Amino acid sequence: MSSLKGKIITVVGSGLIGRSWAMLFMSGGYMVKIYDNIPGQASGAITDIRKQIEELQQAKMLRGNLTAAEQLSLLSSHDDLLQALEGAFFVQECVFEDLEAKQSVFHEVENLVTESVILSSSTSCLMPSNVFSRVQNRTRCIISHPVNPPYYVRLVELVPHPETLPAVMDVAYSLMTDVGQAPVRLRKEIDGFALNRVQYAIIAESWRLVQDGVISVKDIDLVMSEGLGMRYAFIGPIETMHLNAPEGMEDYLQRYSEGIKRVLNTFGPVSDFSGEPADRIIKEICELIPAEQEHLTARRERRDQLLMGLAKLKK
Ligand code: NAD
Repeated sequence: MSSLKGKIITVVGSGLIGRSWAMLFMSGGYMVKIYDNIPGQASGAITDIRKQIEELQQAKMLRGNLTAAEQLSLLSSHDDLLQALEGAFFVQECVFEDLEAKQSVFHEVENLVTESVILSSSTSCLMPSNVFSRVQNRTRCIISHPVNPPYYVRLVELVPHPETLPAVMDVAYSLMTDVGQAPVRLRKEIDGFALNRVQYAIIAESWRLVQDGVISVKDIDLVMSEGLGMRYAFIGPIETMHLNAPEGMEDYLQRYSEGIKRVLNTFGPVSDFSGEPADRIIKEICELIPAEQEHLTARRERRDQLLMGLAKLKK
């Protein structure tokens, strides 16, 4: 993978996720060309990235082996797509979560790059077969789904289109590893990928327990942050099962699988997340964390600091 060092990656879309990808790729020594279809937006993104990178350096939280100045020298902004794509081996799309917008971006990009260029989407929830439906050569298409905030949360889900070549998955995997992310490979596409399917299962049951008056918003969040989340930050649910019985997984299944099935069978239908329960849950969470920007921003900053500390501990 070191042969790719110094090579060019084009980031299409300069919002929250486009900026994060740019910062990650720069931290790994890649040259990053950032493009946005709103003129001036990409150069505005660079101003913001500069500020973030300098603050990260001051706080000793900058990723990679290069200084802030060295990383920033790798970054350029473009209002012209063709110019932005010139020389790139990898294109990371980060436009709005809108199927038609993504389809037309990839259609346009494919017509401007050579066959070997990898086309990667940041989509959170759209299926690869839909996102890339207007691309002719879909063997080089992949979804690289980051987790917010990607600078601190290392996971990237790599999701193939049914026609994606294994070699394309391998390049994306190596690139993500090279910039310090933690990629996982999905073997086939599925709605919600892996992370959101697990996340939605947790949201569904947490919501149900509050909705049904079993527990408060504050306490269900503590169930995660002081309980399950503590160990899930280090080991996943399957390893947790394996470690939670003296003789490992087989033992665990013998002891607990009947109980798991019994409880799972009490899970009701999917909530519609609206009406009186939603009003009540909104009121409860806003009493804990008011919805004004200052409170949310302070909370996000605290989250990012803790995530960074956790990431350092895990190294
Ligand atoms: P955003 O709204 O912050 O940014 C989108 C950017 O794309 C804007 O700057 C916009 O001007 C630009 N854009 C729109 N159409 C374009 C086009 N045709 N060509 C070039 N630029 C265009 O959105 P975001 O939060 O950065 O999300 C981007 C993608 O990343 C979405 O698909 C989203 O689902 C995914 N994602 C988001 C998160 C998250 O938590 N925000 C996490 C993982 C993945």
